[in-house]
Amino acid sequence: MKISRIASCVGVTVLSIFGVTAFQAANLKSIQIDAGPEPPQINIEGAANRLATALRFRTISHQDTADVALPFQPFRDFHIWLRSAFPAAHSQMELEMIGGEGLLFRWPGSDLNLDPILFVSHQDVVPVEPGTEAEWTYPAFEGTIADGYIWGRGTLDVKSGVCGLLEAAEALLREGFEPRRDVWFFFGQDEEVMGNRGARAAAELLKKRGIRFSWILDEGGFVVEDILTAPLGGRPVAWVNTAEKAYCTLRLTARGEGGHSSTPPTHTAVGKLASAIHRLEANPFPLEMPQPLLDQFRQLAPECDFLTRWALSNLWLTEGVLLRRLASDRLTAPFVRTTTAATVFHGGIKENVVPQIAEALVNFRILPGTTPADLMHRVSRLIDNPDIDIEIKEATFPPAPASTDGPGWVSIAASVRAVYPEAVVVPGIFTAATDSRHFRDLASDVYRFSGVRLKMADVKGAHGTDERIGVASYAAAVRILAGIIRHGSG
Ligand SMILES: [Zn+2]
Repeated sequence: MKISRIASCVGVTVLSIFGVTAFQAANLKSIQIDAGPEPPQINIEGAANRLATALRFRTISHQDTADVALPFQPFRDFHIWLRSAFPAAHSQMELEMIGGEGLLFRWPGSDLNLDPILFVSHQDVVPVEPGTEAEWTYPAFEGTIADGYIWGRGTLDVKSGVCGLLEAAEALLREGFEPRRDVWFFFGQDEEVMGNRGARAAAELLKKRGIRFSWILDEGGFVVEDILTAPLGGRPVAWVNTAEKAYCTLRLTARGEGGHSSTPPTHTAVGKLASAIHRLEANPFPLEMPQPLLDQFRQLAPECDFLTRWALSNLWLTEGVLLRRLASDRLTAPFVRTTTAATVFHGGIKENVVPQIAEALVNFRILPGTTPADLMHRVSRLIDNPDIDIEIKEATFPPAPASTDGPGWVSIAASVRAVYPEAVVVPGIFTAATDSRHFRDLASDVYRFSGVRLKMADVKGAHGTDERIGVASYAAAVRILAGIIRHGSG
């Protein structure tokens, strides 16, 4: 009797909780920003031809620049061409060279009391992996326009950013637009190899001059056509990344007794190191729901079908299931976990000699909120072996997540929706690193977004084979960038 009463009480409670949460979910209001004014029209063919030409300059960053004879000449040729291709922008803006080939432009505004805004992109591209040249449908450095696309290394990463921003400035200047606040552009020359000569030097210079930006926009976010297709009824999603993961590589050095392999110690340096790496892989970082992802769900929920909207707006109940689902896929796991990747392992020189030293590199991509000290503490505790030294080889920490209600967010979202009114604009975390990490002290809001519209399958073209951008997508990206500059600086 008593048990059945309890059971019915529980049943009524569950039903009423579901009823209340379902009612709330059904009544969620969209928090998407309204579309801004119509951005300038551009000449699509002219813009596509200029981007195609830009691809022919082999502005390649090599890990070791000593590998290449005259590595900087292509950049110098590129600069001469940029001047002729974008004459209005060059005549209206002041230009400073940073670290040799970095381009820092200032477009003066009419009101010096307003904080300026900064747009960051980069001129350098990664090389084509030797041996894969023949796999390209059109050669990587010929800048071919065919089948509705512009093909070549740098179309997505990211000459479409450098040319797109200059194209946008030209379109605005043709309209007679004058910014109220200063608009700055920085186009780095070594983003693909950490950005020390370019972005870091530019950031140091701006900091020394006491310049602080209202907000900053860098590369690293697309309008994706075919993601969340069912819950969103086919609407594209504009990912404006408000955060990026930090980057840290640890060097593990194991020491052990050497000697002849016929009389080995119980554990060699190689064995100790292998077991340390095994421990790191067997104990991944805990799953967590970082703030930018929570912000993303808040923006997404009202736009989705009922079930998804209910799940995303009742995380107190669904968070565990969502986390496990995201973590189960290699592509989405990095959004909910600091990742661990053992990437380099060296030890031993001969099969019958016990090595005294073995060394490994482990690369971590760290979610916002975890510090280098937290990382070192966790790794030392897991490895727990005095014979293994742990040191930071390389580490960069990006700015804290940007806001989703500041002026930068509003300018970006309004400009996206002016070109793609049906798009759902959401914040997110970029899992790779961009030059914007160097600008962390210059603004509290740093966004990563290119305006380029594509399908998920095309994303792998960046750094891969058949990198390409749709001609119409590029033209729309230029209009979005022009909208952002006009809205953000007006
Ligand atoms: Zn890039």
